[in-house]
Amino acid sequence: MKRRKLLMIPGPIEFEPKVLAALGAPTTSHVAPNFIESFGNCIEMMRKVWLTSTGQPFIVSGTGTFAMDMAAANLIEPHDNVLVISTGYFGDRFAEISKRYGANVTILASEVGNVVALEDIEKALSAKKYKLITITHVDTSTGVLVNPKSIAELAKKYNVLSILDGVCSVAGEEIQQEEWGIDVVLTASQKAIGVPPGLALLVVSQKAMEIFKNRKTSVGNYYADFNNWLPIMKAYENRQPSYFGTPPVNLIAALEVSLQQIVEEGMEKRFLRHQKIAVAFREAMIALGLKLLPVQKNLSANTLTAVYFPENIAGSAFLEHISKIDVILAGGLLPSHKTLYFRIGHMGSVNNNDIIAVIAAIESALFANEFPFEMGIGLKTALKILNN
Ligand SMILES: *Cc1c(COP(=O)(O)O)cnc(C)c1O
Repeated sequence: MKRRKLLMIPGPIEFEPKVLAALGAPTTSHVAPNFIESFGNCIEMMRKVWLTSTGQPFIVSGTGTFAMDMAAANLIEPHDNVLVISTGYFGDRFAEISKRYGANVTILASEVGNVVALEDIEKALSAKKYKLITITHVDTSTGVLVNPKSIAELAKKYNVLSILDGVCSVAGEEIQQEEWGIDVVLTASQKAIGVPPGLALLVVSQKAMEIFKNRKTSVGNYYADFNNWLPIMKAYENRQPSYFGTPPVNLIAALEVSLQQIVEEGMEKRFLRHQKIAVAFREAMIALGLKLLPVQKNLSANTLTAVYFPENIAGSAFLEHISKIDVILAGGLLPSHKTLYFRIGHMGSVNNNDIIAVIAAIESALFANEFPFEMGIGLKTALKILNN
């Protein structure tokens, strides 16, 4: 009767035992030779995971929101025009952050569960000169997946910087930062990167670093200022000690292990694993007679799924049943729809058995709530896809 719980929310996720072991190892000095080597390795491996050879990585204590804040603080100057493409909660957050740094923000928001049409983005870009555009790759509030490649192409066409909020996508959804020409791709440790919460991770293009260097005003956030962090990243990459703020030694040791595992798996294989698991899970939900938040299957994320509660079933009772059998899922996040749906994270170290356990738990809750369905149909649907 071990009380093992399966954590299947969209971050924090289940972590690999070796990652947790690294986190629990004795803390060293931040200038110890082994730590300098680990930090340098992390910077190098981030380029492999982000798929860029020239981007500048930043590893800083903070959450995903801080990674967004850091990108905005350094690239926005007062009165800059910023275009925010919003597919939900985190797009709206990027608008708020941009306003703090004095930007004139235009928001293009999608309907819930949908994306903003490319034509609308192009219309906006051609109507006014923007300094930068923000894109949420996977909005964790809706489970909607945006195609950043075609938006980044538009940004390049209109000479606008692009920032991708990849907090729920980096190392889970395909991102080719260099090939697609995205200027900033940012994330946090606790999602598909597979390390407990506490690290903000960004990779910034040389073009964006140039624009940063040519700022006319100083960065209005001391802790976020690239001027403070760039020398630190360069020093550690050159295997030299340096100090601005004490690095989270244990988290960086854990990051090294997780990035090694990711690079070992290979990016292509990792993206395909996420896709297969996501397709199996989505098809299982549909076979059970449940409805997804994304309005089309091809707009559904591969890192999480957002599902409406069946009508006539109270969401709280449904989730409580599932948590009693030790599977932890998340409720809704989008304020307008918060009580209507639930979310399942399936990213990072997720495997077939994990989603089979989640589908079984959902079937169990449907049965307990007297929902009319064919018991086992979700499991059967998923197994057929997973075994293919
Ligand atoms: C989780 C998440 C964030 C916020 O990250 P925190 O670590 O909670 O600050 C931002 N954007 C997206 C897309 C996310 O999924």
